[in-house]
Amino acid sequence: IQTVEVGGLPVTPFKSMEQAVNTICSNEGVLPGFAVAINAEKVISASDNPDVKRNLMLGTLLYADGIAVVKTIQKKGIENTRVPGCDLWKELMKKAALNNKHVYLLGAEESVNKQTANKLSEEFGLKSLTRRNGYFGDVSQIIAEVEAIRPDIVTVAMGSPRQEQLITKLREVHPEGFYMGVGGSYDVYVG
Ligand code: UDP
Repeated sequence: IQTVEVGGLPVTPFKSMEQAVNTICSNEGVLPGFAVAINAEKVISASDNPDVKRNLMLGTLLYADGIAVVKTIQKKGIENTRVPGCDLWKELMKKAALNNKHVYLLGAEESVNKQTANKLSEEFGLKSLTRRNGYFGDVSQIIAEVEAIRPDIVTVAMGSPRQEQLITKLREVHPEGFYMGVGGSYDVYVG
């Protein structure tokens, strides 16, 4: 899929959530890379602040999370729907369970992380999973674990720019994986 320039950021326009999920994960495997959600706030902030832009450009798959970004793309005559990050994460977890992919669930407090893993297992039958909370001392332990396990999908809930910086390090040792930063999505998921 061809990207569309939105405020200097290359955004991939998806026609549906299903198309987004199928692009990332199928029976054959996962799309290697790093998905980053784009909304108007991030577009504006990236145009004002080179550090913000650099952080967003760590992503290899920028998708339209905000309605203003979707409208901007549609005005160029390109079919496009909103892909909210939290929903994309959930749909991807469902697809991972269906396609027997291994998921590494990183981030949030221990209780939230554990409840997230349990709920994913109950709701979608996701069993092939490694989990770790986001309050670890030594990052090299996480890097070694990802390098050894080589999960298909790694989702990191640690807030920005922490999660993006960590994902960049993880991709260096395991570039075949699909990564996404999910902010407070685990907290929202377990309520
Ligand atoms: N978090 C973490 N480790 C840290 C700091 C934060 O795992 O060192 C977690 C926090 O528990 C929460 C998540 O990061 O679950 C998202 O934080 P926040 O809401 O600030 O992220 P945002 O969605 O605003 O990017």
